Amino acid sequence: MQNLIEQAAKAIADSRVVIGYTGAGISTESGIPDFRTMGEFWEGFDPATFEVEIDSREAFEKNPEKVWGFFSQAIGLMEQVEPNEGHKAMASLGRLGRMAAIVTQNVDGLHQAAGSENVIEFHGNVRQLHCLKCEARYTWEEVKGGKIPPPCRCGYVLKPMVPLFGDQVNIEAASTAEVLAANAQVMVVACTHGDIAPVNRIPLVAKEYGAVIVEVNRLKSLYTDRVTDFFLQGEAGEVLAALAREVGGLLGSPVN
Ligand SMILES: [Zn+2]
Repeated sequence: MQNLIEQAAKAIADSRVVIGYTGAGISTESGIPDFRTMGEFWEGFDPATFEVEIDSREAFEKNPEKVWGFFSQAIGLMEQVEPNEGHKAMASLGRLGRMAAIVTQNVDGLHQAAGSENVIEFHGNVRQLHCLKCEARYTWEEVKGGKIPPPCRCGYVLKPMVPLFGDQVNIEAASTAEVLAANAQVMVVACTHGDIAPVNRIPLVAKEYGAVIVEVNRLKSLYTDRVTDFFLQGEAGEVLAALAREVGGLLGSPVN
């Protein structure tokens, strides 16, 4: 394993364009459950019906109060959690000039809180809201403490800018992510199984354009046998921190 970390670190240190790609797993160590298994975690929501009654555009339009009951809990939790060693290691790589951007599936803002710049939120951010009628945008801070669901000035209801099933993905984020992937010399894929489309294409695009794929996961993913060059198996916080330290050592800039 140490040998693999050293090889992966060398590939990263020798590269000019390193792009990160992260999934829910990187935030579970901070206490945020996987978005797609959230139904099991939140009070008052049945996992069996979660996808139909909460995580769909149709559900939101039919019963925004109910869906907001879930969003309120999710936002409340995200306001309390802190970035963990995994987020911090990704930010350390950024300070070393070896993490030009991170494409994340997460909606919790923890990469930015850890100090990463240039974070592409493929699935949006749960604390950015928009009106489904007039498209006006708000931040959670602007409506916090008011009525739930929060109303727009136009009278319509606001929705967090995260795609539910049946929503379009954010075209701008998706195309930025593809361009980054195509330009990556190394892609660090962390904490994602690779089963959520269309975001799961990103490492495949990177590989297609010649990137070396460094994967950090607790278990094998759909990428491991298909595109991964270095599979660093283990807990994200631990492995990413070891990787960042190794890269820092190679570059002569020690990482704590
Ligand atoms: Zn409006």
